[in-house]
Amino acid sequence: MRSSERFVRPALLCVLIALQAATLSAQDATLTVGTATAARGVTAYGELNVPAGGDPTLNIAVTVVNGAQPGPVVAFVAGSHGTEYASIVALTRLTSRIDPQTLRGAVIIAPLLNVASFEQMTVHLNPVDRKSMNGSYPGNPAGTQTERALALVADQIVKPATVIVDLHGGDMDEDLRPYSYWIRTGHELQDQASRDLVGAFGLDHVILRDIDVTNPASIRSLSGYALSLGKTALVAEAGRSGLVLPEDVDALIAGSLNVLASLKMIAHAFTPLAKPVFVGSGARVQAEAGGIFFAKAKRSALVKEGEVIGETTDYLGRVTGQVMAPVAGLITFIRGVPSMWPGATLANVAPLLTTVPAYKKP
Ligand SMILES: [Zn+2]
Repeated sequence: MRSSERFVRPALLCVLIALQAATLSAQDATLTVGTATAARGVTAYGELNVPAGGDPTLNIAVTVVNGAQPGPVVAFVAGSHGTEYASIVALTRLTSRIDPQTLRGAVIIAPLLNVASFEQMTVHLNPVDRKSMNGSYPGNPAGTQTERALALVADQIVKPATVIVDLHGGDMDEDLRPYSYWIRTGHELQDQASRDLVGAFGLDHVILRDIDVTNPASIRSLSGYALSLGKTALVAEAGRSGLVLPEDVDALIAGSLNVLASLKMIAHAFTPLAKPVFVGSGARVQAEAGGIFFAKAKRSALVKEGEVIGETTDYLGRVTGQVMAPVAGLITFIRGVPSMWPGATLANVAPLLTTVPAYKKP
């Protein structure tokens, strides 16, 4: 409480309380995100209008499905990497699968945060300011486009939600196998809630990652930021190499519906995954120099430490090196295109976990 609040006169206090109650009951009945305002039992379409700053304006499409009955608010977000197409397409199709008349609670869906990345086919970053739209939370209303956009996403999408589901996939340069992340904070109830969602979502491989939400570097992503606010967060990935394959899109839609079912927001039969394959975050292999990359192993292959998983040549076809697995484990993704440059990620190999270790603060 701010010290000045002690001096508010009783009569004024009554007015303030009445005003606050009116606002709360109005919020209870309708949900507004950006220009989308949905009364109970209604689906509304709109956008977050990110104002122009030192660079252009940006409009982020958003849907609000406000259930006829009150309940949790779940936000589904994709396209912070605007060329991870399967996840974006999945969320454009999720809306029609949710009936606001029978929904308990509310669902916010933002399928494409990084519009410039999508339009210009720029991987990983927002080409407008070269910043990561999954690495710049909580944003800044006075910053560049990415920062202004994320400030609005934080305020309009993350804060009203109790559960955040962030969908990704292999980008155009990543040949990726599907998996979810179980991101733990060391807070028992929060970690159990995330674990329940991972099981409900149903992807059979799960990357275990422990973060410290008091470390600013760990809460720059959407999931880290949401977890730092005490919310439940789930990250799931399916899709690869610029493809929109039905099995990937369907897995992400099914997982999203399972999440809503597990929270008793929709009636939808699903079986939680009893025994996912847990893997560690793994080790990335990075290119030491420019040249041409050829994958010699497939995504999802189990490899031994030191096993050759790729080969590089110069621009005249002369072999310049063998790419080896840095650890034994599962290839979660491998570079799907020949382009490489010093520091480019060539593959990620994650060790299989036979038991789930206790949370360890990184
Ligand atoms: Zn991504």
